[in-house]
Formats: sequence, C-alpha cells, structure tokens
Amino acid sequence: MRIAVIDEGRCEPKKCQDLCMNVCPRNKLDEECIKIDGCAIIDEQLCVGCGICVNRCPFGAIKIVNTPEKIGSLIHRYGENKFALYNFPVPKKGNIIGLVGRNGIGKSTAIKVLAGELKPNLDDLPTIIRVFLKGDRTLSYKPQVLSPVNVDELDKSIVKELNITKKDNYSGGELQILNIALCLSKEADLYLLDEPSSYLDVISRMKVMNLLKSRLKDKEVIVVEHDLALLDYIADEVYLLYGSPGVYGVVSTLYPSLRGINSYLNGYLPAENVRLRREKITFDLSMQENLKIDKLISFTNIEKKQGDFRLRVKRGDIYKKEILGVIGPNAIGKTTFMELLANKIKADKGKIDKVSISYKPQYLHPDYSGLVEDIIPKTSSFRDQISYPLHLETLYKKRVDELSGGELQTLAIALCLSKEADLYLLDEPSAFLDIEHRLQLVKILQRIIENKDATAIIVDHDLHLLSQISNRILFFTGKPSKSGEAEIIPTYEALNNFLRNFNITFRRDPETGRFKANKFGSQLDIEQKNIKEFLSLD
Ligand code: SF4
Ligand code: SF4
Repeated sequence: MRIAVIDEGRCEPKKCQDLCMNVCPRNKLDEECIKIDGCAIIDEQLCVGCGICVNRCPFGAIKIVNTPEKIGSLIHRYGENKFALYNFPVPKKGNIIGLVGRNGIGKSTAIKVLAGELKPNLDDLPTIIRVFLKGDRTLSYKPQVLSPVNVDELDKSIVKELNITKKDNYSGGELQILNIALCLSKEADLYLLDEPSSYLDVISRMKVMNLLKSRLKDKEVIVVEHDLALLDYIADEVYLLYGSPGVYGVVSTLYPSLRGINSYLNGYLPAENVRLRREKITFDLSMQENLKIDKLISFTNIEKKQGDFRLRVKRGDIYKKEILGVIGPNAIGKTTFMELLANKIKADKGKIDKVSISYKPQYLHPDYSGLVEDIIPKTSSFRDQISYPLHLETLYKKRVDELSGGELQTLAIALCLSKEADLYLLDEPSAFLDIEHRLQLVKILQRIIENKDATAIIVDHDLHLLSQISNRILFFTGKPSKSGEAEIIPTYEALNNFLRNFNITFRRDPETGRFKANKFGSQLDIEQKNIKEFLSLD
C-alpha cells in the first residue's frame, strides 16, 4: 500500500506544463495514474511507487510513501492525496495519557477527531472505537491555537491557584494559562489538552502540570506534549505516533509511560515491530562547564529599576564559545538584562562591557507573504553552516506567512544566526519543535557557536534542552513583576535549585539518560530529599 500526498500550495501545472503527468510510466501506458484538475491528482491504486514524478516535480509538491502492510484502521483523511491518520487513541478513566510523536504526524488530528472537530471515518473501525466515538461523553478541549478568554467565566479556585489577574492585554504565556484554566473550569468526562506548555515558563509549566494531576485524577485526559520531563511527570500511559510527517501517521498501542517514552527514544516500538529511526536518542547530562579561556563580557554587580520593578545581577564573566542557559519565570528581568547587555538601556549601578547582539525574540509574527528564499542570505557560508544543518532548503519555496509554528521557529533561528554578532540571544528556540528537532537544535547551535567563535544565551523552559546545551546557567529568582535577582551558577546547581523549589525529585533513566520524575513519597523521592539531591545523576 502506498500513500500519495500533493501539496496544493506548491503544485503549479501551468508553470511545469503538467510534467508529472507526462513522465509517469503508468500514464505512458495510457492509464490515468496522474491527472491534472487544477493541481495534480494521483491514483494510489495505479501508482507503482517508482518515484519518477517525485524527483521530476520542479516544486517539490509530491510525496509518495510506501506504508507497512499492517497499518490499522483509517480514522481520518483530509481528502484525496492528503494526510491520513490510522488508529485511534482511546482515553481511559483515571489515567492521564500522553501523545508523543514528531510534528506533522497526526497528534492534533487525533485530538480534533476526539474533540468532534474532524469527522472520523466510521466504515472499517473496530467496534470498541466506534462505540467510543458515538458515545455521549462531555468534553473540554484546549486547542493548540489560543483564543481570548473572559476571566469571569473561570472557576474562582483555579483563578486563585494560577494567580490569574484581569487586564486588557495578555502575553502568549498568560493566554495559555487562561485557555488551560477555561478547559479545567468546565465539568466534563474527557479533557483534551494540545501542547499546554507552549509559551509557559518553567515555573508555570510545573504549576499547570500539578493542577492537571490534582484536578483531573478521576477523569479521562489526553495531553499532547513535547517536553519529555513534563510528559514523564504527568502521563500514566502514552500512545506513540509514527509514520511519515505530512503524509500519514499511525497511533501505536498503549504503552506504560516509562516503557513508551524509552521505546520512542530508542527508535523501536516492540509491540508493533516498527523502527522509527536508525539511531537511538540518548541524553548526555554530564553538565560539564567546559569553559573556554577567552572572556567575551565582564560585568560588575548590576542594579536597574524600571517602574516598580527592580533587577539585581551579581557580577560575572561570559566567555567566547560559551552557551549560557537561562532559567527563571517570566517577568523576572530576563529581557531587562538582555537589553542591558545590548546597551539599549543603561544600568543604574554597575558596568557592563559592550558587545554586539543578534536576537531571536520569543514571539514570532509572520506578516511577510513572500517566499522564504527571498529573505535568506545567499552566501555559501549561510548555506553550509546554517541552512544545510537546519534543513532549511525544504522551506525555500514556502510563503513565510504560511509556515507552521515549528517551521517559522527554524527560519527565525537561522536568520538570527546569519547575522554578524558577538553574542546570539535566542529566546525560547525550542517552542513548537518536536523532540527530534530539539535535540538536533542542540547539536547545530553548539557547532555554529564553535565555528563562529561566538557566544550564545539561550532562554528556554525545557530542562532536557537546557541541561544538554548549557555550559552554565544564568539563574533568576524573585517575585515576577516586582523584583528579580540573577547569578551565573553551574548547570547542575541551577537545575537542583529549581527542582527543590517545587519539592520534586528527578533521577536519570539508566537506559536513555533522560530525566525521570520520582513518584512523590516513593523511597527514592524520600532518599534524594534527605540528602538534598533533587536531581540525581547516578
Ligand atoms: S505536482 Fe509538480 S510536476 Fe505535477 S503538476 Fe504539480 S508542479 Fe507540476
Ligand atoms: S510514483 Fe506513481 S505516480 Fe509517480 S511516476 Fe511513479 S507510478 Fe507515476
């Protein structure tokens, strides 16, 4: 069996003069394997998968993928030659179930079918799924795309617990909290949360996850989440999605959380006998400082007051070729400190060496309707050092305002790194990227910073990413919007302090090296707390 997908946005038959139709060997035998009706249409039954049309199409508009023989039941297809989802994640009462998989593999499609936003194909479904889909359960759904929320509609105790205040304009993180609060305020049998941690700082992530655990313990819950440490913390079981991004996705059988996440990282699903990728994903969490000798910036003790907010930063040095991670809640002075470094504002007390900065902001607003290839540098160094490792070529022919969140993130990172600067400041580079892309980002950033003899400051909220990428951490504490204090400390100390603030203990999973949350009150949890080792690397 094979699946053909045509990207209608790219298919331009007038420009290519129906090329694919003319080169297809089945069409040459007078069969109608490819026809043109506004754009190309491929008959999957006639197609032999020779790949000629895929290679010849000048706009990269065709994908043809052979699927495994046993693929399961078709749940939803967006149309002829469009993405198809097979099998279904069935919720379970009293369990939080995670959906894990790459971007474009069907997680949001599955959630939308569950939410009733997409119609399932009921024809050849197993009875258990048909009964489930026809059931009259009530549901509450937090979609990936956020909407404005009226605070008066929210449950008062949730408003209190999440410190929600009424105001005119909300940031992306605040809007995410409001959308989650609205979802939890509704009484329902089934709760669906699509990427609840996007835009949230580390502290808010933990608060939200604790709220989900406590409020929804007797409910059916399905959560899509890319942050592995969070997923491990909340999910009892997981469905793993595999297939070919943008072409088809298959929902696996249900795995216990530990076994499922490890199988995903190992790249092999034992129950399905399916290999996801050749290499295993493992985490090197040695957290060595590994500092280079050349200093880039030195600063004395710094003080800066802005309105009612006061920031204090302890004296420090930042080195060339160093990657400095940043941990701290929002509104704690991170942007203020970056503006001080960029010499955009002056400190009230203290001195900072001057450096040039290239900045990738947290929120990306694509308002350009031209193609990606029109706005990227045309130099060979950009192509070799940045575009090639980030696989940017696949986006060249796409319109900037039509890129997905992950694609836009990749473009913004590439443009930031393409500028000449001493210091690259990337605010939340992992937002909207899947697990594979996050780990790729770590390797690419390390290589680029080394090659450019530059320095990077990475503000992110994914503990795995921070522990992998950071030589040291700029650690912020204080009261958001009131006062912030920051200091550069070793990565381990920062992560340990962070977990201690939440009274949560993590240990390393021996098989994959990833962080695993200890069950609250378990023997390991108690032992680690007794010796104040909230993060155990043993
Ligand atoms: S798929 Fe490619 S080759 Fe076929 S008509 Fe469209 S643009 Fe031309
Ligand atoms: S892959 Fe299929 S549609 Fe494309 S040229 Fe070959 S037979 Fe024709």
